[in-house]
Amino acid sequence: TRIRPSSKRCAVIGGSGFLGRHLVEKLLDKGYTVSVFDIRQSYELPGVTFHQGDLCDKQALLTALQGVSLVFHCASPAPASDDKALFQRVNIQGTQTVLQVCTEVGVQKVVLTSSASVVFEGTDIKDGREDLPYAKKPIDYYTETKIEQEKLVLKACDKEKGLLTVAIRPHGIFGPRDPQLVPILVDTARRGKMKFIIGDGSNLVDFTFVDNVVHGLILAAESLRPESPICGKAYHITNDEPVRF
Ligand code: NAD
Repeated sequence: TRIRPSSKRCAVIGGSGFLGRHLVEKLLDKGYTVSVFDIRQSYELPGVTFHQGDLCDKQALLTALQGVSLVFHCASPAPASDDKALFQRVNIQGTQTVLQVCTEVGVQKVVLTSSASVVFEGTDIKDGREDLPYAKKPIDYYTETKIEQEKLVLKACDKEKGLLTVAIRPHGIFGPRDPQLVPILVDTARRGKMKFIIGDGSNLVDFTFVDNVVHGLILAAESLRPESPICGKAYHITNDEPVRF
């Protein structure tokens, strides 16, 4: 039996992660009914249904996404992993499975967390806009699979079939419970390895506060309608000001 999707029922794939959990908390505040789909469960929260499973597992996704109208896809292996097969399986094949299941169960909207690195070729970008082409030589395999993933999600946008998609591209994300960025910086500094400046010290890096990324994801979801110009498009997301390093 198929449950009719309600517009306030959403699922966060990767909802146990750093960004995913912040997103879940904000969605609850806004009155959404939230399911989390993740390979691990990292917390418990009243009102959240957890489905533990691998997004490459079609059957597990079919169960978890029943009755859901909006899917946020925020799952990925850690960028630092050098397991190419894992990136390929999760970011590319897994995303294909997610899209297939969304079509089969009648999900109406998919919002992908992509990455600003999809347009980064290793040379400086200032005021980069969304019309920049995808990197021809991505900086690593993680990014290569994020490019393929974004293309798959945006191509799946089909008003006739009733599936609308959009992608948000943050760069580095910081905020409470960040497991990577700030802890690694602090650890490196403690070990006395931050004594060197590359360039003249005027380099800028774009880091985005996690609440701003969450805000961008929810705005994208709520603006995604058949007549909306954002259908099938990707958007960079940032704070007002880049951070000086
Ligand atoms: P995270 O590692 O904290 O969270 C990712 C979650 O995905 C984890 O809970 C993990 O268990 C889950 N996951 C991994 N493989 C899975 C699978 N096969 N099936 C189901 N769940 C799986 O990472 P994050 O920082 O919260 O990143 C979230 C998203 O944002 C990712 O798509 C990442 O590419 C993107 N992103 C992050 C940053 C950043 O600075 N953190 C920057 C740009 C883009």
